[in-house]
Amino acid sequence: MRRNRRVKILATLGPASSSEEMIRKLHEAGADAFRINMSHADHDTMRELVRRIRKVESDIGLPIGILADLQGPKLRVGSFTGGKAELTAEQEFTLDDSQQEGDSTRVFLPHPEILEAVEVGHRLLIDDGRLQLVCTETDKRRIKCRVVAGNKISDRKGVSLPDTTLATGALTDKDRRDLDAVLLENVDWVGLSFIQRPEDLAEARKVSRGRAFLMSKIEKPQAVERLEEIIDLSDAVMVARGDLGVEMPLEAVPGIQKRITRAARRAGKPVVVATQMLESMISAPVPTRAEVSDVSTAVYEGADAVMLSAESAAGQYPVEAVATMDRIAVQVEKDPFYPGIIFAQRPAPEATGADAVSLAARQMAETLGVAVIVTYTATGTTGLRTARERPNIPILALSPVVETARRLSIVWGLHCAVTEDAQNLDDMVDRACRIAVEQRYAKAGQRLIVTAGVPLRTPGATNMLRIAYIGSDGLSAV
Ligand code: PGA
Ligand code: MN
Repeated sequence: MRRNRRVKILATLGPASSSEEMIRKLHEAGADAFRINMSHADHDTMRELVRRIRKVESDIGLPIGILADLQGPKLRVGSFTGGKAELTAEQEFTLDDSQQEGDSTRVFLPHPEILEAVEVGHRLLIDDGRLQLVCTETDKRRIKCRVVAGNKISDRKGVSLPDTTLATGALTDKDRRDLDAVLLENVDWVGLSFIQRPEDLAEARKVSRGRAFLMSKIEKPQAVERLEEIIDLSDAVMVARGDLGVEMPLEAVPGIQKRITRAARRAGKPVVVATQMLESMISAPVPTRAEVSDVSTAVYEGADAVMLSAESAAGQYPVEAVATMDRIAVQVEKDPFYPGIIFAQRPAPEATGADAVSLAARQMAETLGVAVIVTYTATGTTGLRTARERPNIPILALSPVVETARRLSIVWGLHCAVTEDAQNLDDMVDRACRIAVEQRYAKAGQRLIVTAGVPLRTPGATNMLRIAYIGSDGLSAV
């Protein structure tokens, strides 16, 4: 299936979208990769979702990426009788250490260290700040609060504490168990929540041993401060605007989003813009104008992917939400202003073979008006560096390693396919022509450009560039 846009769509799966049929529909509507939120999915659910995604993947014959997003040290309330409660301004509400289901007077807070750390006067922001409480009394096991701004509260909603200093580690015990479980299922990406410092990646890196790529979620002011170092140690980043917008002034988020997007593009690491992109589509079949504008902004900035959270996981219109994102992206990329805006941010090449070849490939492709750039990538590096150039020509990323093809599914502009190792240079070029034709990226009589690192499977050894002409038999004619 050929998409007619470069930016990718990442859709979160959840109760509204967990059947195989729904996963298939979301993929058809435009989802290139799926996110499993480990804050909500237990291990059986996660395994079943992975199985269903892989089934759809094998049916359509194209790689699909899976991001398992670890909860991180995110604080959440327990659950409520009936799933929710309504709180009104000025009422009293207590968070405590009793595991009983909550109601409109109290709820369980399963973090004893937090119950101890909160002091009178500290703010508790629940559900991305939709509900605001302030602590009026505490005995270190119960935090009594006054509701400042009322709202609905429901099961396992997040709690932010902008006034309370917390000594949180990078991975919680739950994250460690979840990480082991998701690695066994061969997920492609692991999302790390609430990263604060570069060191926070070390444990996940050590445990994953290359079995998955790591995506750091930027959602703390501390992470923004050390952005470049964190990007350096990550395989990708997410602009996690939900928590970022609670931890920082909301009006600071758009600028930070630009900063993160540009820094990640400069580093050649994928960047995902996430949260509330089409929020109103949780309960409406059409988005607001402001949401359309928001998605467009991320696309104009050259983000690698835009993400849906509750819209696809728990909303009433998951397929419509994906289709809406797809339409917005296609339209933006057709806009005459798009190339100028996105290419103005194009970073200079680094002094490596991969960058020299990627730059040359783009320039030659644009000069010659070839149909497609075909890039062989075993580890993903050549694919990533080619995408970093943001060429105005489609890129077909071929990999003998299915895991690589899946990981690259979130990367700007890469149409990924799995192919066997090429026997020799001629085979490589023939194969590029054949697959480009098969996948409808080129037809007989057109030219394409092939780049690779020879010998294949040598990371960072991109050193080959060929112009090929597709003969009438669909193979290389030159
Ligand atoms: P979450 O992360 O959905 O896991 O909280 C995204 C965000 O905070 O924006
Ligand atoms: Mn978050």
